[in-house]
Amino acid sequence: MGFWPDGFQCSVNITFDYDSNSALMRRAPLDIVAQSRGRFAPNVAIPRILDLLDKHEIKATFFTPGWTVDQFTGSVEEIVTRGHELAAHGYLHERLAEISKEAEESVFQRGLAAFEKVGVKPEGFRAPYWLISDRTLELVQRLGFRYDSNMMDSDMPYMLVWRGRDTGLVELPVEWMLDDWPQFETHRRDPQAAYNVWKPEFEGIYELGRYFGLTNHPQAIGRISRLKVLDRLFAEMKAKGDVWFATCAETAEWTRRKLS
Ligand SMILES: [Zn+2]
Repeated sequence: MGFWPDGFQCSVNITFDYDSNSALMRRAPLDIVAQSRGRFAPNVAIPRILDLLDKHEIKATFFTPGWTVDQFTGSVEEIVTRGHELAAHGYLHERLAEISKEAEESVFQRGLAAFEKVGVKPEGFRAPYWLISDRTLELVQRLGFRYDSNMMDSDMPYMLVWRGRDTGLVELPVEWMLDDWPQFETHRRDPQAAYNVWKPEFEGIYELGRYFGLTNHPQAIGRISRLKVLDRLFAEMKAKGDVWFATCAETAEWTRRKLS
């Protein structure tokens, strides 16, 4: 008997970190062109991505800074209306390990307040840059989140123990190799190169019945040639017939039932 529900062989979480221009607003508020690059997400990428997800009947998880919710509210509402999950991702894409305790708490409160405006209480948290402070997990737990998605020590979800204490949080682990940003933005690789990294990893994970969590950034993956890689991957994964496509919240709740 495998780990996954209904005889599924492996699980796939498709996630998008919907940063828009949040990080750029914080780092370079006067750089008008940089801001415009962030707006490629709400203007062009998100509609395209939502259509692609519909085409393959996949529900995804969008880790979204509060800033994106406040600035591009209609776009975020569209994501929710079309059945996808919204999860927390800071307010202005802060580097949590480098700010004070008070500032970190305020980041979470502002993020949650923005989510409230679109009627969502997020179950999951992913830190901007996957960078957390030694206070973050305690805060995430205290604020009632159900899962975290930052650690890189497994390719299976697990119950997160922190400093010898059970946090009650499910961890949905990540890895830079399954992230579009280094492929397309840091290294400017061609779409086929990203496919060549992701496809064999998926095949291995399928074989062993494990967990494939792919992180994308709408402003990066949303360019046409890159989105074709996702289109092809989704088709090939679906063709297996026994891959569980779930949102992060669904995967986390299944993991909790199995392991606790
Ligand atoms: Zn981000």
